[in-house]
Amino acid sequence: MGGAVRDMLRRKKIHDWDIATDAAPEEVTAIIKAVKGKVIPTGIKHGTVTVFYKNHNAEVTTFRTEAVYSDGRRPDKVEYTSRIEEDLSRRDFTMNAIAMRLPGGEIVDPFDGAKDIKNKIIRCVGNSSQRFNEDGLRPLRAVRFAAQLGFEIEENTLAAIPDALSVSAKVSQERVRDEIDKILASPLPSRAFRLMEKTGLLHLFLEELAVCRGIEQKGFHQFDVLDHSLLACDYAAQNGYSQILRLAALLHDIGKPSVRKLDEKSGVWTFYRHEEVSCKIAQKILGRLRYPNSTIDNVCHLIKEHMFHYTDEWSDAAVRRFIARAGELNLENIYRLRRADAYAFSGKEADSSSLLQLTDRVKKILASGRAFTMKDLAVSGNDLISIGIPSGKKMGIILNELLETVLDDPAQNTREKLLEIAAKLNEVR
Ligand code: ATP
Ligand code: MG
Repeated sequence: MGGAVRDMLRRKKIHDWDIATDAAPEEVTAIIKAVKGKVIPTGIKHGTVTVFYKNHNAEVTTFRTEAVYSDGRRPDKVEYTSRIEEDLSRRDFTMNAIAMRLPGGEIVDPFDGAKDIKNKIIRCVGNSSQRFNEDGLRPLRAVRFAAQLGFEIEENTLAAIPDALSVSAKVSQERVRDEIDKILASPLPSRAFRLMEKTGLLHLFLEELAVCRGIEQKGFHQFDVLDHSLLACDYAAQNGYSQILRLAALLHDIGKPSVRKLDEKSGVWTFYRHEEVSCKIAQKILGRLRYPNSTIDNVCHLIKEHMFHYTDEWSDAAVRRFIARAGELNLENIYRLRRADAYAFSGKEADSSSLLQLTDRVKKILASGRAFTMKDLAVSGNDLISIGIPSGKKMGIILNELLETVLDDPAQNTREKLLEIAAKLNEVR
């Protein structure tokens, strides 16, 4: 059914089986229990149960007919049917409306989906406007499939998207996020984002990104901020970077439209401290899309730290400060984001010699086992209490000073020296 038959016809690996049946969920449950399999009612409201049998699992859904969608999100009620053809007619796209009869293997393809798959076309089953008005997620699924499969959206299907935006606006942010995640996981995310821009979906769901169109940055870049962001995201996808990095690449410059200023003298646009504003806007977007807090924190940290300017004049202390800010575990991701960013200046692999030099120096400094965090200091809060510094704000300030001292000169990281410095700081403050 659906995705599985589609992927089989594309000769791609099938990652999940959706099985449709004329048996009611209770009958499916009884049959599977009789052969000692397990059944979990994962989507019982829609007639779906997940079946576990031997080492396999599959979603089994009872044939349904098209029901009334009064809210553009979910059918009002589910009605069952005994005909697969009727079930297929409620599916979104022709490529997803193909079934294979089991066990015989006969293909049921009432809407010529196999032909569309062969021609790499995404086409609504029946009337596009009607299908999009029933479920506002479908336009987003269309652009997601375009990026995921490398297919084109058929003309009438594409043309029906703008008129259905008010319906798409009602879709829950979680469902939107799941589609965005699938877009990001695809080989060329920009394909979906460009289609979203063209149809108005980008303005609807990622307005902050849409307004990056036309933000020219001549003097630095050959692309506007939107094209630059999409190129960075594609680079992250093409190099197999994580979802966190793909999000960071997509959103790393999102603050640029709001901080842009024209330098009167040179006539060049400037974007001072855009990384901080980008971090805040990314936080807002990802929060709205209900991403987990850990994802938001990781993405925002990378965005905030993406603007380091390494030169070979950096002292060892400067490199240590860089490590301290980035956090040792984030270094690899920060290099990767930088590579994606540098690529997206021109759309070509950039000269990475200075990044390699930094990587090298960081490696050496890390190997010398010096201190980069409070935890690495040779004294603890308790040591400071023992020399009469009360815990609280003042201790925090002193610990920070000690870390700064050690970052400047690791040789100071001994108990005696740090206690001596702490005592002095305690006197003057
Ligand atoms: P993938 O699993 O790769 O995301 P899929 O096509 O299997 O793709 P699912 O979300 O697993 O997508 O849905 C299974 C099938 O259910 C689809 O192939 C399609 O026939 C149908 N379907 C899913 N969502 C919708 C929807 N919003 N509107 C209509 N039909 C849908
Ligand atoms: Mg599926």
